[in-house]
Amino acid sequence: DDNMILQFQITLYGDDERLLMARDITRLHRLEQMRRDFVANVSHELRTPLTVLTGYLETYGDMAELLPDRLSRGIGQMQSQTRRMQNLVNDLLLLSRLENDRGGLDDVRLDPASLLEAVRRDAEALSAGQHHIEVEIAEPRGLRGSEKELHSAVSNLAFNAVRYAGEGSHIVLRWRPWKGGACLEVEDDGEGIDPLHIPRLTERFYRVDKGRSTATGGTGLGLAIVKHVLLRHDARLEIDSRLGEGATFRCLFPVERLIATNDEIASTSN
Ligand code: ADP
Repeated sequence: DDNMILQFQITLYGDDERLLMARDITRLHRLEQMRRDFVANVSHELRTPLTVLTGYLETYGDMAELLPDRLSRGIGQMQSQTRRMQNLVNDLLLLSRLENDRGGLDDVRLDPASLLEAVRRDAEALSAGQHHIEVEIAEPRGLRGSEKELHSAVSNLAFNAVRYAGEGSHIVLRWRPWKGGACLEVEDDGEGIDPLHIPRLTERFYRVDKGRSTATGGTGLGLAIVKHVLLRHDARLEIDSRLGEGATFRCLFPVERLIATNDEIASTSN
């Protein structure tokens, strides 16, 4: 079969014995592809009905003062629930795009300082003055990657910090050196996460506290999106947290992703 996919595994026993195993994962791979296509198609098909519903609800919402109280409250509820559904469908579509679109990375030179500043402004709006949010730049080099994707990854991390760290917490968005490469990190001094949960946080719909997360407007896909964006940038996510001691989410970029200085971005980007 031309399209057979094999997985090899070599195990070492002591100094001179090796075991080579080959596994045919063709079927597994096809099933996985079917799952992805299915999710992408369903999300796509849900977009139109949701747009129609939103349109009607907006019209009825505008007439709220003409309607009996119970009815206009009901319409408010429907509006917030359709908004939730829309967020979910958008995140599902984004995730399937990230999974399926191999090699199609829009690779531009970007300035992490302005990326973090833009995210800070959005996080500030979500926080409505209940958190202290700062940007810290400790690394002069710039970054090569997709501006849109990295923006959505860092936004997800910053919005999570606003949603879960609790009122009055400090949130720092930072760009700093890391080994030979560099690191974009979001640090908060909020409630933190039991390390028990950390290995599973990037799974789709995995939540530490389901009720709380739904109430805060999350879709359960945020960290899955972050993980896939980073994979496409040869980077990875490191999560460091303890219960009651805040949380740090680090996006670790290898040196190959960095560009010399910020000056270079300014002179080559136009
Ligand atoms: P969502 O936020 O929509 O539930 P995510 O994938 O973005 O989905 O996050 C998964 C879970 O990780 C959240 O439900 C929350 O329990 C936990 N989490 C994420 N960021 C933080 C944070 N900064 N502090 C505490 N918990 C967090």
